[in-house]
Amino acid sequence: MPGISSHRIMSARTLRSAADLAHAGLLPADAMEAAARVGTRYSIAVTPAVAALIDRADPADPIARQYIPHPAELLTAPHEQEDPTADAPFTPVEGVVHRYPGRALLKPLLACPVYCRFCFRREAVGADGGVLGEPALEGALGWFQRTTTIREAILTGGDPLMLSPRRLGAILRRLEAMPHIELLRIHSRVPVAAPDLVTPALAGALGAVTKPLYLCVHANHAREFSSAAVEALGRLHRTGVVLLGQSVLLRGVNDSTEALEALFRAMLRARVKPYYLHQLDPAPGTARFAVPVEEGLALLRAVRGRVSGLAWPTYVQERPGGAGKVPLGPAYAGS
Ligand SMILES: *Cc1c(COP(=O)(O)O)cnc(C)c1O
Ligand code: SF4
Repeated sequence: MPGISSHRIMSARTLRSAADLAHAGLLPADAMEAAARVGTRYSIAVTPAVAALIDRADPADPIARQYIPHPAELLTAPHEQEDPTADAPFTPVEGVVHRYPGRALLKPLLACPVYCRFCFRREAVGADGGVLGEPALEGALGWFQRTTTIREAILTGGDPLMLSPRRLGAILRRLEAMPHIELLRIHSRVPVAAPDLVTPALAGALGAVTKPLYLCVHANHAREFSSAAVEALGRLHRTGVVLLGQSVLLRGVNDSTEALEALFRAMLRARVKPYYLHQLDPAPGTARFAVPVEEGLALLRAVRGRVSGLAWPTYVQERPGGAGKVPLGPAYAGS
């Protein structure tokens, strides 16, 4: 297709401003000015697929809460940090984060289909985040090529499934051609937030990978598994991609045993194995989503007795100051 950019053109109907949201009935008129102020600092995007999931009659709708800007985002709590994961010291070249042995992140772009109000990378991701330029991408791939201790390349961002299938396919081919790379992983919110982007061309690009490819889908509420999302995930599954789920424990979204059980069961029905439940990282202006670790542990204990072992993720926390991810439990031995 002539003139198509490497970064896919989103549906024109994606809502990208406070005014768009108010127009669509997703923001009361008197909340528009404050939301617009938030929008000058943090990107806003709500896809048609997500907008359709929101119950406009429910002021506490768990889908809306994840995406509709709120004035509290401009208030930074004392414990919140601009870069909660402290990735900077672990960036050997632009676009790469190498923190753990054997695996490293490649961030080919910083755009997402939607912008989550609790995002731990909120200071970096956004509509103007753009795509890693050709020289930087070559530099990043060169790092993977010569760093032969890396067995697993993890594409994240931003959202790698926002790339054109051709460009994504080209990156995956380069990585899998490296003899030391045994596994490829992609982290994405596209299958639930923009299932229309899971086209035959995208499925084809993923299906062409011959090494094991894991797709880790970010979803936080059972309702995100719409019939379109489940179909998109089925298409991806049929290409041989292994589907994993990752969620963030969020106040007002999934902070009850019922909500977590429903979420994990919805994942399994969509062929997605719950992998991680993340403790919220303290990014600026996200305090209204925080659930204390003790409460998270109690919730998981209560869920454990009610679901298949397949439904149970590992509850993990990013330790402050760059100490990395650790599992939180709950522990049972001797308790
Ligand atoms: C989370 C993360 C990974 C992947 O960790 P897993 O435990 O293997 O899922 C890799 N690198 C960085 C920097 C991460 O934050
Ligand atoms: S999709 Fe992921 S990276 Fe993008 S805004 Fe949401 S949490 Fe952040």
